[in-house]
Amino acid sequence: MNIIDMTIHELHAALKGKQLSSVEATTAMLARIAAVEPQVGSFITVTSEQALAAAAAADQIIAAGECHLLTGIPLALKDIFLTEGIRTTCGSRILNNFIPPYSATSWEKLRDRGAVLLGKLNQDEFAMGSSNESSAFGVTRNPWDTTCIPGGSSGGSAAAVAARQAVATLGTDTGGSIRQPASHCGCVGLKPTYGRVSRYGVIAYASSLDQVGPLTRDVADCAAMLEAVAGHDPKDSTSVDTPVPNYAATLTHGVKGLKIGLPKEYFIEGLDPDVQKAMDAAIETYRRLGAEFVDISLPHTGYAVATYYLIATAEASSNLARYEGVRFGHRSNKAEGLIDMMTKSRSEGFGAEVKRRIMLGTYALSSGYYDAYYVKAQKVRTLIMNDFITAFADVDVMLTPVAPTPAFKIGEKINDPLQMYLSDIFTIPVNLAGTCAMSLPAGFSAAGLPVGLQLIGKPFGEETILRAGYAFEQATEWHTRKATI
Ligand code: GLN
Repeated sequence: MNIIDMTIHELHAALKGKQLSSVEATTAMLARIAAVEPQVGSFITVTSEQALAAAAAADQIIAAGECHLLTGIPLALKDIFLTEGIRTTCGSRILNNFIPPYSATSWEKLRDRGAVLLGKLNQDEFAMGSSNESSAFGVTRNPWDTTCIPGGSSGGSAAAVAARQAVATLGTDTGGSIRQPASHCGCVGLKPTYGRVSRYGVIAYASSLDQVGPLTRDVADCAAMLEAVAGHDPKDSTSVDTPVPNYAATLTHGVKGLKIGLPKEYFIEGLDPDVQKAMDAAIETYRRLGAEFVDISLPHTGYAVATYYLIATAEASSNLARYEGVRFGHRSNKAEGLIDMMTKSRSEGFGAEVKRRIMLGTYALSSGYYDAYYVKAQKVRTLIMNDFITAFADVDVMLTPVAPTPAFKIGEKINDPLQMYLSDIFTIPVNLAGTCAMSLPAGFSAAGLPVGLQLIGKPFGEETILRAGYAFEQATEWHTRKATI
């Protein structure tokens, strides 16, 4: 089997059985990155030297007989994760030369298990976007069709897995940024429950929504990555101190008797026929496997996008105030005086979408509008949360599309922010409710683009969606198909 095609589990078996070394695996991945990067553009920074050194260290650990599932496995991270000594840009000019003095907890956990870092992945600037077109480091292309977007904002994280440039990656999801690119690139992507994974050292976009999660080739790898990064972190007070289940142990338990809810607000007119077809087939598969379907309603779904764009922009306007050219990041050299320096540094450093959101958020928080917009949005958020609580009294998981359409063309929506914002209509409510959801491959469009299926779980119900995802994967072959690149 070709090294670049291996899952974490396959590579682990080969490393443990000494058929392969981590240096060989890492060398193969670096060669693959070099070969396809001109067409895909998944990476902002490739850390070849450090990767080979880490791989050699992993090989020694393996030789000593200690081989964790992630020891020697070449991974990559969205460029939103701080990595000590390695440039971290968050896709922005304002952090073009930023070298963090410390690392994100989630990366430290992977590194401590012996994982090898191949590099830092492209993304929408400050994770604001659904297409990866707002990066200051160029677009990332969809490995299934390079005229299409890979999704966003973790576009590089999804494209790198699909193009076999990394075995697995980490992304972040504030309104769909793991699930939507996973769907568009044909990989598995999981947004954990708010509080499940530490966000220490992850550059903040909208702090009441942001979560860290894995993008992988299959569900078993997703379970392994989640288990490695999950858990309480004293450095992140929003991380919750509940035990991390052994996700792998229950993967094979099947879906017999599982109650799956179909929220009627997610199966709307105007859903792309290719997406509808994949959903119908998925429902049929689950029926065959013994799951029961229940029609449910999440009545406030129609308000989710508007609510999200008030809360997310309000929080972003506050979080992004720290980039003022004084302590770190880009500083304008054309300025006279302190205020002018801050203004020019921000004007030069931020891209158009980030500026739009800072202005929208500042407006929503300003006196006179605060109650009408921000407080109102918080109230609607509670209604959306309650929708999920009510519906989950009757079902174990929910099944929905991830996105209304397969990947769209590069340039198609970039000048129409509203259209772009609507591409997250099915993913945003999950973030507002704070619960967990996973995207997994469920078919292909007539044009050959991947279509994902979303499984939404109860808060801290990752075990159940992983189990349901695994059962689906065992019964289908979508996840085995490879992008043509
Ligand atoms: N596309 C959404 C946005 O632009 C979600 C982004 C995300 O999840 N980081 O805000």
